[in-house]
Amino acid sequence: MREYLGEIVKCVRCGRCRTVCPTQQVQGWESAGARGRMQMAMGMASGVEPTTGMVTSIMTCTTCQQCVSACPSGANPQQVTRAARRKLVDLGYATSHQREMQGRINNTGNSLGDGSARTAWVTTSQVTGDSGYVYFAGCLASYRYQSTAKAIYGILEKFGVGLLKNEQCCGSPLLRMGLDASDLIEHNSRQFKEAGAHTIIVGCAGCYSMFREQYRDFEILHFSEFLASRLDELPLDQLDLRVTYHDPCHLGRTYGIYDAPRKVIEKVCSLVEMKASKENASCCGGGGGVRIGYPELSGSIAEKLKDNIPGGVNYAVTSCPLCSRNMSDIGINVLDLAELVLMAMKE
Ligand code: SF4
Ligand code: SF4
Repeated sequence: MREYLGEIVKCVRCGRCRTVCPTQQVQGWESAGARGRMQMAMGMASGVEPTTGMVTSIMTCTTCQQCVSACPSGANPQQVTRAARRKLVDLGYATSHQREMQGRINNTGNSLGDGSARTAWVTTSQVTGDSGYVYFAGCLASYRYQSTAKAIYGILEKFGVGLLKNEQCCGSPLLRMGLDASDLIEHNSRQFKEAGAHTIIVGCAGCYSMFREQYRDFEILHFSEFLASRLDELPLDQLDLRVTYHDPCHLGRTYGIYDAPRKVIEKVCSLVEMKASKENASCCGGGGGVRIGYPELSGSIAEKLKDNIPGGVNYAVTSCPLCSRNMSDIGINVLDLAELVLMAMKE
């Protein structure tokens, strides 16, 4: 951790991040927030033996980046926390949920540990294209949100976008939990090269962030970006719907993708902004392994997001299956952006 000391000492302990960190807002403790995590990291860099409380503090960060946006000192607690996570894993402090995730991916190539065919959602009319564009569905859409995968690819195949023959998890769950994802990166990169792909299109914010960070040989587009640039080529009706949009942390705050999904929504129906949106958007609580390892905390963060949803909307639209899952689990009426567009498509 000593190599992060320069980043850690940027924290002047002003407490600004206390007002935005979703885990601190739910749990209240200093150790559950960004400033506390910076202190834990400082301790680790100084050789302090990690305690159970330190491990929990570091492992419960959702990697939402709200602290990064808020910090007046230019510190990056999210980056430091992720580094501390890797260090804890190296030191043998991996939690049971981290070991289980590693085992599921090792055994099945997906984060759900699902032994069925990854492409079971693909219909016979859908074939691998040779346009240089490939749709990477991701684990959640392939196994738990097949309607989303079908909706996205049903639109993308009109543009000649192909699929991989043997897609595996992008590695995001491992990397966010401080584990090694190099085998998955190598496997998928080889597949993209064999498919002649220059551009990868994803419908998941976690996959998007992973690809931008780790798959540097390819252009990466979120489905909303691709669609926003090709909207005029699709036969779309206006829907009599009012929806709001949830900005996934790893798409919005991390990479500034705010306009594309809004452009798509406004093309087909009426958009009402959440009370806090774009760089101030609430975290759904699902990221960083928190949903898997600390489901109660994850659900409580999602409950807080509920307060942000304006009244009188038919759906909360989002563009990440993990956000969809965490939000729908607490009763929010969620719709993926692709499914909204599919509803508006003329036959
Ligand atoms: S906002 Fe930045 S400087 Fe202030 S306590 Fe948080 S991490 Fe430290
Ligand atoms: S990334 Fe989010 S959860 Fe993690 S310390 Fe920063 S604000 Fe808190």
